[in-house]
Amino acid sequence: MNAEIIAVGSELLLGQIVNSNAQFISKNLADIGVNVYYHTVAGDNANRLASVVQNAKTRSDLLIFTGGLGPTKDDLTKETIAAVFQKELVHDELSLQYIKNYFVQSNRQMTPNNEKQALIIKDSIVFPNENGMAPGMAFTDEGITCILLPGPPSEMKPMFQKFVVPYLESKSGAKTKLYSRVLKFFGIGESTLETELQDLIEKQSNPTIAPLASEHEVTIRLTAAHSDQKEAENLLDETEAKIVSKTSSYFYGYDLDTLERCLIDSLLQKKATIASAESLTGGLFSKVITDIPGASSIFKGGAVVYSNELKQTLLHVPVSLLKQHGAVSKECAEWMAEKIRTLTDADYGISFTGVAGPDKQEEKQAGTVYIGISNESETISFPLQLAGTRNAIRERTVKYGFFFMNQ
Ligand code: ATP
Ligand code: MG
Repeated sequence: MNAEIIAVGSELLLGQIVNSNAQFISKNLADIGVNVYYHTVAGDNANRLASVVQNAKTRSDLLIFTGGLGPTKDDLTKETIAAVFQKELVHDELSLQYIKNYFVQSNRQMTPNNEKQALIIKDSIVFPNENGMAPGMAFTDEGITCILLPGPPSEMKPMFQKFVVPYLESKSGAKTKLYSRVLKFFGIGESTLETELQDLIEKQSNPTIAPLASEHEVTIRLTAAHSDQKEAENLLDETEAKIVSKTSSYFYGYDLDTLERCLIDSLLQKKATIASAESLTGGLFSKVITDIPGASSIFKGGAVVYSNELKQTLLHVPVSLLKQHGAVSKECAEWMAEKIRTLTDADYGISFTGVAGPDKQEEKQAGTVYIGISNESETISFPLQLAGTRNAIRERTVKYGFFFMNQ
C-alpha cells in the first residue's frame, strides 16, 4: 500500500498550526510497514480539495484525511470525497445516538448542524470517536482506500491507534512488521556512496535503502517489511549482498559495530597484539583503543613521538631518513611502525605521521598523512590527503588507522 496523508484546514496553510497529524500518522504507518509517499495539505475549499483528491487517486492507493469533519460550513471533507467518488452520504444511526449522548453527558444543547456529523459516506466502516463527536470512517472504492479522521489530535490519535491500525493490519492480511539492519562504511562520502548505489536505491522498495552521514562515517539503514521474520531477513540479506558487492572496500560492520571494536575483536580472535607510534595524533589512537573494555588483552601500549628528536632517540629513526624524506613520509611511517612493533614485541605495529595543520610542515600541505602498519612478514604504509580542521584531521587519521588494520 502506498499511502498519502491529506490534511485539510486553511489554518495549516496560513501557518497558524503545524501539521503534526501528518507526522503522527506517518510514524505510526511506518511502524506497521505502510509506505507513505506524499503529505498534502488543502485548505477548506471544496474545489481545491476535490482536485487534491483527484490527483491523489492517480498516485496513491491509501488516502488518509484529517480535519474538516466538524459540524460547521467550512468542514467539507466528507462531502467533497463523497462527490469525487460519486458516493452518497447517509445517516448513521449509531453515530447519531453517540452524538446525542455526548451532548447529554456534557450538558450542552445539540444544534441541528451537529446532525451533519452523523452523516457517513455510504458503505463505510465507522470508527467511533471516544474523545469527541465526529466519527471517523473508511471505505474502499476503485481499489483505493480512503480513511477520514477528525482534525483535533486529541481525537485523531486515539482513534488511529485503537481502530485504524487494526483495520489496516486486517486489510493487509497478516501483521506486517518492520525489520531494520544498519550497514556501516568508512572512507567513502555519503554522496559518493549514494551515487554508487543510485540504481539500487531507486529500484528498491522492500527493503528500503536510506544512507545517512555521521561523523567521518556513512551508514545505510535497510528496512524490510514482512509478516515473517525469516523472509524479512532474507530480503535484507539479498540487498546487503548487492550493496556490499559494489562497496566492499568501504564496508566494515553492522549496527553497533565501531571501527575500534572491530579491530579489538579481530585481534582477540587472532590472539594478536598491537603497539602504536604516534606523531600528529599525539596519543589519540591509544586513547580511543583504551576507551574500550577488553583493550588490555590486545594493546601493548604506545609512544607519542611528536618531535623529530624523540623519533630519533626513542625509535632510532635515522637522521639520513629524516633529511632525505622528512618525518612526514612513507619511509618514516614504515620505520616507526616496524620499530614500535619490534621494541614492544607486539604482533602489529601501527604509526601515524603527518601534518595536522593549519600550517604547512616540511613543505607539505595540512592533511598530508602517512599511516604505517607492520607485522612479522611485511611493513606497509598508506598515504592520505585529508581535509578539515586540525581536530578533524587527527580524528579521521585515527579512524583510518583502525580501518586499514581491519582490511
Ligand atoms: P472539529 O469537530 O473540532 O471542527 P474537524 O475534524 O472539523 O474537527 P478541523 O476543524 O479541521 O477538524 O480542526 C480542528 C482543530 O484540530 C484545529 O483547529 C487544530 O487545532 C487541530 N488540527 C486540525 N488539523 C490538524 C493537523 N493536520 N495537525 C495538527 N492539528 C490539527
Ligand atoms: Mg472543524
